[in-house]
Amino acid sequence: MFANQLDLPLVHAGKVRELYALGPDRLLMVATDQISAFDFVLDSPIPDKGVVLNQLSRWWFAQLGDLVDNHVLSYDVPAAVAGRAVVCERLEMIPVECVARGYLTGSGWLEYQASRTVCGIALPEGLVDGSRLPEPIFTPATKAALGEHDENVDFATVAATVGDDVAARIRDLTLAVYARAEAVARDRGLILADTKLEFGRRADGTIVLADEVLTPDSSRFWSAATWRPGGELLSYDKQFVRNWLLHSSGWDRASGDAPPALPADIVTATRAKYVEAYELLTGEPFVV
Ligand code: ATP
Ligand code: MG
Repeated sequence: MFANQLDLPLVHAGKVRELYALGPDRLLMVATDQISAFDFVLDSPIPDKGVVLNQLSRWWFAQLGDLVDNHVLSYDVPAAVAGRAVVCERLEMIPVECVARGYLTGSGWLEYQASRTVCGIALPEGLVDGSRLPEPIFTPATKAALGEHDENVDFATVAATVGDDVAARIRDLTLAVYARAEAVARDRGLILADTKLEFGRRADGTIVLADEVLTPDSSRFWSAATWRPGGELLSYDKQFVRNWLLHSSGWDRASGDAPPALPADIVTATRAKYVEAYELLTGEPFVV
């Protein structure tokens, strides 16, 4: 999407972000305005979304600097991607989606209903969609190939993949980041239900927080004021778009067809949601 404006080798194009090489050790990670839902990239970009998410990640990296090293080198980026890109260390990524959950919902809720566990962790009876867990848990997933769902796995599977020591370190770091971020969000009237982190390794083996952090794309934020376990959970993440697609758009998810484009009012409302999340969390007005 930005490739023809940047004279740089494209290393990777994900659903919503693009990575360019800036030499052997550095990458330019660009957040586009694309939005994905149900593993489809929608035809309707959300204006400024990439800027909001990049700026929110930037703010979080600063909040977390004492807990874990991060991949950020600079925010001095080419004008074509101003505000929406970061210059970062090129790391060897650890192939685990590191998820922490303080609340039960989404794929965790589905697994719980079938087995009373999430990623092999036994949970008490009587929890409902949106329940607060007795304590936050590490619920890793393996990164799926394009077009497939990530698969929840237990800790033993992570340990078998990356070794006991790395598995324990990424678990502990994930829970530490969650605990810090949950407290920050709670102060701002938001519940951080869950979040997904990615870690990479430097050549010397140091584990480094990478990717994006604590954005509405990688995390579920709910308004604490309206949180009602078992009820409708009003969120700052893509649930808003997902609800429109599922309940108002006429799209049949089971058909396998791509979802329809979003109407202008849904695009506007979605943009406002992302901006609202940024402003609530950081306490700063969003300026493009
Ligand atoms: P999806 O579209 O399913 O999210 P994706 O995760 O591959 O696919 P993006 O999230 O859009 O795509 O792209 C970001 C990619 O960059 C991810 O593969 C992520 O693991 C990788 N990445 C993030 N930070 C770094 C880093 N510092 N060094 C190397 N790779 C990184
Ligand atoms: Mg990704």
